[in-house]
Amino acid sequence: VNTPNAITSNPDPHPPAPRPSPPAPQARPDIQGSTQSEVDALLRSWNQPGYRATQVLEWVHRQLAPNWETMTNLPRALRTQLDQQYHLRPLELVQRQGASDTTQKFLWRLHDRHLIESVLIPANPALYGQPSDRHTLCVSTQVGCAYGCAFCASGLDGWKRNLDAAEIVGQVLAAERLLRSQPVEAASSLALEPPGPAPRGASSRFIHNLVIMGMGEPLANYEQLLRALRILNAPWGGTIGARKITISTSGLVPQIQRLADEPEQFGLAISLHGATDDVRSRIMPVNRKYPIAELTEACELYQRKKGRMLTFEYILIAGINDHPSHAVPLGRLARRLHAKINLIPYNHVEGLSWERPTEAVQEQFLHALESQRVTATLRREKGHDIDAACGQLRLRSERDTPRV
Ligand code: SAH
Ligand code: SF4
Repeated sequence: VNTPNAITSNPDPHPPAPRPSPPAPQARPDIQGSTQSEVDALLRSWNQPGYRATQVLEWVHRQLAPNWETMTNLPRALRTQLDQQYHLRPLELVQRQGASDTTQKFLWRLHDRHLIESVLIPANPALYGQPSDRHTLCVSTQVGCAYGCAFCASGLDGWKRNLDAAEIVGQVLAAERLLRSQPVEAASSLALEPPGPAPRGASSRFIHNLVIMGMGEPLANYEQLLRALRILNAPWGGTIGARKITISTSGLVPQIQRLADEPEQFGLAISLHGATDDVRSRIMPVNRKYPIAELTEACELYQRKKGRMLTFEYILIAGINDHPSHAVPLGRLARRLHAKINLIPYNHVEGLSWERPTEAVQEQFLHALESQRVTATLRREKGHDIDAACGQLRLRSERDTPRV
């Protein structure tokens, strides 16, 4: 039986409670995590004209300026003053990996030397009918994770700290900056596409969709997550529509309820991976705190308030949750919640004994769902060859350190 120690050696009926996130002491915040009204209030207090905040934020979010020096249309004295007030610390690229199908993974170093990762997924025009310069970026929200799902690399070494909004926004800015400086690589990602109509100006973007599915549990870092998403959504910031942003959670019920009350229509994906408490609690300790009945109610609330379709993420793990009989309660739940199901073949994690099922088993599971008339897709893992499942690249790098 394919049962790793991680399950049996943890008799604790409750998931590890992540410590509440104290706001990082920020005498000098990073401008990437600042809002227009904050910047505007500060500049006005320095008797700067009203258009200055727009100008500064354009440099940060449109021109992707890497430092204050490059903001040449600002008076030098103001640049010095801004430099004293705000950090502008772009994430430092440690490693860039590209899969054969052009999914790319970025490993970033934070100012305190922790490592995080983002994954860039090009749109597949055959699937979505989108032009080739549309990308989805998968971003991280924490260093490590406290939730300890038994199959996941992100939680293996525990939780280190929350990211602040600047570090979440910074992943998008840094990825855009890279893509802009190397457009040939990005453009060649889908060589069969006809050439795009418009030349790429300073304000055009590669990243049009976000999935908050990188390292960490986003809803355990609620305040900084929401601050970051509002900056990425703002017309003066990232201009990414709320409906193009999907938050993935392991199922933190109170935070799902809270998110339902926010004005934005963010998409919600639930990492389900088991449709009965028995299966789910075996692999996800969080289910012992928020079992499926409570999670279902929170999902219904979200749906009622947002009118948006939910997604269930369901990793197929050999011998754990991949039998056609497991598809029956899953289909039932999906029908009840009008959720679509993303089946994801498990990505092997070094040091864990879980395996992905054969393709025949994957297909069989998909058919078992389809015969219940629910919408399901089977994802051929795009990043399989680059450790693309969350936390894997970082885990390896941290264990192989030093790496410069
Ligand atoms: N903490 C959040 C978001 C980050 S995890 C959550 O759990 O939803 C993002 C997704 O990657 C989750 O669905 C998670 O279960 C999945 N995942 C984790 N490890 C994986 C692996 N080895 N192979 C495939 N998917 C994995
Ligand atoms: Fe954390 Fe999500 Fe990994 Fe679970 S799957 S350990 S919640 S990152």
